[in-house]
Amino acid sequence: MVKIEPSKCVCGECRKEFYMEWEFEIVDVSERPQGECVWYHGEGEQECPKCGNILYGGFSATEYPAGALESNSKAEVSDSMETGKSKINDPVIRFFDI
Ligand SMILES: [Zn+2]
Repeated sequence: MVKIEPSKCVCGECRKEFYMEWEFEIVDVSERPQGECVWYHGEGEQECPKCGNILYGGFSATEYPAGALESNSKAEVSDSMETGKSKINDPVIRFFDI
């Protein structure tokens, strides 16, 4: 089981700080010597509560071996006002045994 903590964001327009929830899905599973390698792709979208700028984030991550985070990309960030200054903290990914 995978859980991704909400990331703190900063609006590039008004500098307001807030949190964004990540939605994610498994995009690929491959077999490797130590078992399955699972690829995740995540996206998030959150409107700034102060000025209405919409922040968009994306990342990808791989789990290998099972229950371990092998790699985790930096969050890619864009926003509806195209400020180029919005920030989203990198996702914090946790794995749990069921
Ligand atoms: Zn804002």
